Amino acid sequence: MILGHFAIAGIAKSTRFHRESLFFLTLASLGPDLVDKSGNMFFGMPGRGISHSLIFFAGVTSICWIIWRLFKLKPDTLTAGVLMWGSHLIGDFVQLQVLFWPFLGPLEHGQKFYVTEKVRLFYIDQLYPDQFWLEMFCITTLVILLLSRLFTTKKPAAMVVIQPKAPRAELDSLQAERLGD
Ligand SMILES: [Zn+2]
Repeated sequence: MILGHFAIAGIAKSTRFHRESLFFLTLASLGPDLVDKSGNMFFGMPGRGISHSLIFFAGVTSICWIIWRLFKLKPDTLTAGVLMWGSHLIGDFVQLQVLFWPFLGPLEHGQKFYVTEKVRLFYIDQLYPDQFWLEMFCITTLVILLLSRLFTTKKPAAMVVIQPKAPRAELDSLQAERLGD
């Protein structure tokens, strides 16, 4: 997925994790790509390399958990980050050899990653239909969520009418009138 990772961060922000920053959610959602794609561009490492593996995911989670404990940060933020990173691995349909690295053998040396090439293969040639349709689903869900929020008007708070207290004398005269009837 390409835009799907952004959409998942948006869905998280508009539902369960509305208190977390969208920047943080997006960063975590793109986490594996930020590490691997940078490694690919600068050092020729596989585009889907070790940061798309479960062992790296466990490592990142453990380090973050220690940091969160030390600095007493909000547990919800950690949960959101872990879920976003995990969603990336699911959305990418990561191959087993990469997911269970290094247990299923070494990683293949990928070709150099070019954004334009990836966009063409993904959207025009539709080389990865499963990921493409998952991405469409995520984007549609986000659009529905945003539209529903846009059209949901907040109900005005119930108006409390404070009845002015009638002066005692007035009440007495009313009572006297009624008795007179
Ligand atoms: Zn990825």
